[in-house]
Amino acid sequence: MKYISTRGKSQVYSSYEALLQGLADDGGLLLPQALPTIAFSQEEIMNFTYTDFAKKILALLFSDIPKPILFDAIDKAYQSFEKEILPIYSLPNQYIMELYHGATFAFKDFALSLLPHLLSSALQALAPSKQLAILTATSGDTGSAALYGFKEVANTKILAFYPTRGISTIQKKQMTSIEGNNTFAFGVKGNFDDAQSGLKTLFNKEAFKNLLKQNHYLLSSANSINIGRLFPQIVYYYYGYYQLVKQGEIAKGEPVSISVPTGNFGNILAAFLAKKIGLPVHNLLCASNENHVLTDFIQTGIYNSNRPFYQTQSPSMDILISSNLERYLYYHYQDPKIISALMEDLNQHKQYTVKDLSLFKHLQGYYFTDSQALDAIKEVYDSHGYLMDPHSAIGYLAAKTYQKNHKEKVLVTATASPYKFPLAIAKALGLPTENELKSLDLIQNFTKSPLPLELKNILSKPLTQNKTIEKNQMEKSILEVLL
Ligand SMILES: *Cc1c(COP(=O)(O)O)cnc(C)c1O
Repeated sequence: MKYISTRGKSQVYSSYEALLQGLADDGGLLLPQALPTIAFSQEEIMNFTYTDFAKKILALLFSDIPKPILFDAIDKAYQSFEKEILPIYSLPNQYIMELYHGATFAFKDFALSLLPHLLSSALQALAPSKQLAILTATSGDTGSAALYGFKEVANTKILAFYPTRGISTIQKKQMTSIEGNNTFAFGVKGNFDDAQSGLKTLFNKEAFKNLLKQNHYLLSSANSINIGRLFPQIVYYYYGYYQLVKQGEIAKGEPVSISVPTGNFGNILAAFLAKKIGLPVHNLLCASNENHVLTDFIQTGIYNSNRPFYQTQSPSMDILISSNLERYLYYHYQDPKIISALMEDLNQHKQYTVKDLSLFKHLQGYYFTDSQALDAIKEVYDSHGYLMDPHSAIGYLAAKTYQKNHKEKVLVTATASPYKFPLAIAKALGLPTENELKSLDLIQNFTKSPLPLELKNILSKPLTQNKTIEKNQMEKSILEVLL
């Protein structure tokens, strides 16, 4: 498979090149030159495990990666998941796909436990004398998933920078208790923007990059625009759909809609790609919180990121620039000139306008406030005894709203374990919210909802990383680790 840029001014890339490169040279995002069609036979549906689905789908997308290498990476990646890798909870007409049974209890584990193995193979094939240095700024879930994913992966070092403000105790402890000889976490004084902009500066600093190059490092960020983040997410939509076929909940070929709590537009784009390559999907429901730039875009055609930023109870969706949307636009227009012009507008004026609203024919946008999300958590808990996290609750609400005038069944992606956000859950259920540890226990005692042992243990694990730095010390800290 070859990969092309959404902006049309770049060479084509092989899978390995695309994985290592992340972004195209012209600043665009990479897409497969042609999409395969993927279907599963009755026999496959009845017998395939999650990794079987992953192998079949990813072998068609990463068709130029040798199969033994790809399959070995897939086997390694999903070993770290709980035995039941993707449980599905049924509500009337809705199916909640729990995408949070990996190492760090959020859906990002699906991609971030595979990507490091793919990158490691790409490195071996294309630049065997180099080491990969992954630098990532995180507002919470990405950092821990990346640290766990890259832990002990040959020829890689992973450095995650989390803000000292705005991160939950559990998210922080997942990073600061990591046990790997190639894993490093730093607290950066300030908020997510401070950590993010600090890294951005370094990625643009020639002297810094040259020094790493001289020391045989290849620099990468493993962020969610990498095709190695995107493609593994297609698999669970197929798997979830066919699990429901297998259980007799839906007929094979029956169209369903999919509701996705959305931030950077990565997870929902994977659902869109699943639809494009053959999964029977009717509509995609793009569910946002109070940072509802996408909802407004879908309703008006105006993407306007020039607006106040709200810190919400669903922090992983607190995003005003949804990078992966560029890929969705590309599939509609099929014209790199139009995409380049829109992205130029976004860059210069923080907004762009599309005139052709048929772009949104199968994409519906909804947004909900924190208090609506917390009410939904309580409502679903009270009526079904089922506990959702604040991100998933927004996906649930979008599905519920949509179903007021649509009949088909909806798959809702539950993106994180409720136990990752104990204060929000305790508040929703009317329990005390003194601190996260206490809330965790109270929620468990009250709901009897299973608290994953690893998550409980996280809080009592010893610290392995305990460095808090100023933003202007990031370069020095990185060089100390790498050189
Ligand atoms: C990252 C994340 C999201 C948003 O996913 P995108 O792919 O960025 O749209 C939603 N929920 C949780 C829990 C997340 O960690």
